[in-house]
Amino acid sequence: MNKHANKGHTVSQEIRSHLVMFTAKYGDLKKLDRLAAQRSGQSHYWPEDPCMHGHMFWRTVGGGRCVMCERRYNQQARNKRLRAKDESRMLDIDALLEERRLQRELKEMEL
Ligand SMILES: [Zn+2]
Repeated sequence: MNKHANKGHTVSQEIRSHLVMFTAKYGDLKKLDRLAAQRSGQSHYWPEDPCMHGHMFWRTVGGGRCVMCERRYNQQARNKRLRAKDESRMLDIDALLEERRLQRELKEMEL
């Protein structure tokens, strides 16, 4: 299977699902440029060019940040936190196993 083609497919699906979520959250925004969006009080505008990560997606009028990138960044931060949590849990299990092993060895020595 072609990895790249698969990846492209995933990305466009990702954008579609983001678009659905975004529309649900903010309603139907007009695809205005930044200045026009600012004038009409819209929170987001539609860029002329894709962002540095290639997303053609809404950006915040305030900071000009790509919503897709922000979401991704938040997701990655969350994944990182979850991974760290998993790792510390694994360490706990290791410590527990080690403790049990020592207890067993102690018992065997007593016998
Ligand atoms: Zn982006």
